[in-house]
Amino acid sequence: MAFWRSKKNKENDALGHKSAASSEVPEKQSTSQPKTEAAESRNENKGPAAQSTADEPTASAARSEPKPKPSSGGLFSKMRGALSKTRQTLSTDIRDLFKAEGTLVDDDFLKELFSRLIRTDMGVTSAEAIRDDVATRLRARVVSLEEVLETITQQTQTMLAQESTGIQYTDSGPTVILVVGVNGSGKTTSIGKLANHLHQSGRKVVLGAGDTFRAAAVEQLTVWAGRIGCEIVTGKPEADPASVAYQTVDKALAIGADIAIIDTAGRLQTQVNLMQQLEKIRRVVEKKIDTAPHEVLLVLDATAGQNAISQAQGFSDAAGCTGIVLAKLDGSAKGGVILPIREKFQLPVKFVGLGEGVDDIAAFDAAAFAKALFAQ
Ligand code: GDP
Ligand code: MG
Repeated sequence: MAFWRSKKNKENDALGHKSAASSEVPEKQSTSQPKTEAAESRNENKGPAAQSTADEPTASAARSEPKPKPSSGGLFSKMRGALSKTRQTLSTDIRDLFKAEGTLVDDDFLKELFSRLIRTDMGVTSAEAIRDDVATRLRARVVSLEEVLETITQQTQTMLAQESTGIQYTDSGPTVILVVGVNGSGKTTSIGKLANHLHQSGRKVVLGAGDTFRAAAVEQLTVWAGRIGCEIVTGKPEADPASVAYQTVDKALAIGADIAIIDTAGRLQTQVNLMQQLEKIRRVVEKKIDTAPHEVLLVLDATAGQNAISQAQGFSDAAGCTGIVLAKLDGSAKGGVILPIREKFQLPVKFVGLGEGVDDIAAFDAAAFAKALFAQ
């Protein structure tokens, strides 16, 4: 039942989202414009031609993309900063394999490389793919650390390449976004950050406090709405989340909002209850707007590593997820988990959470991510 995937147009948006074929790293330009405005004005200028390229897969193009520019600050340095724990673990581990005069790429080396890659929680399949690529390109050669890292970066970028990761907006009326995931994964915070960016880029946003199971979650979202200056719909304590979702969409229609973002519970008495509740939310939202929800974003906690994957399985099955937000990359030494997440869920990673601050969210970019993960 993938009806929700087909009915929306594709558009670039704030947070540095861009044509998938583009090699530009989403980052603050060297102008005096605030970041979100700069990103937005670049995107608003893209015509239909640019948008159509966003639909093309990038796997084949990935290797030929020019390198991101790590020195120019902005989102790339933030991403690099966020991935520093993973990068340090990885490069220290891999550096140990090298002698000053270079190292021969043989079976022993490849075996050692594999075991070090695995420590980033990238999973066996990804680590094997990287090892095999290094073997194909460099076997029997004496190589430097830099050469190996360059090869690994390229292969990672290829594996992470995906179709355009921007929010899929509706042609008309409010775009409805459901946000799902286990408790503590970063849903409410990610909603706050995302709503702020959308609001800053001139879109009218309504939030729906659908996690009525926990009073603190409603308060937390209310604080975000106040901070951003956007509307919020809340129910009474323990109100039916589906009714909050319904009212949120109602409100969005009534005030001509561009976006409705609905928070949901991450845990109920049982997992079955939770999944039934998410299905009910989907149904009532669809009753209001038959193409909604337009996005169902699954928030995963990057610090959970491989555990994030098993936690996410139920959600992706029940909620019909359309994309992933990988939160808390900044606190994680397991940033490599993005590889099995992409492989397992076949969903695009749309955003990455880089901290608790209002600006600490970025559009996912495969080239920048791979570079931030491995480059010295
Ligand atoms: P929820 O239960 O899924 O709604 O999760 P919350 O949004 O309440 O987040 C749980 C905790 O993780 C809070 O303390 C957040 O401040 C923190 N958090 C969320 N996203 C990030 C992130 O990207 N980086 C860091 N460092 N902390 C985050
Ligand atoms: Mg929450």
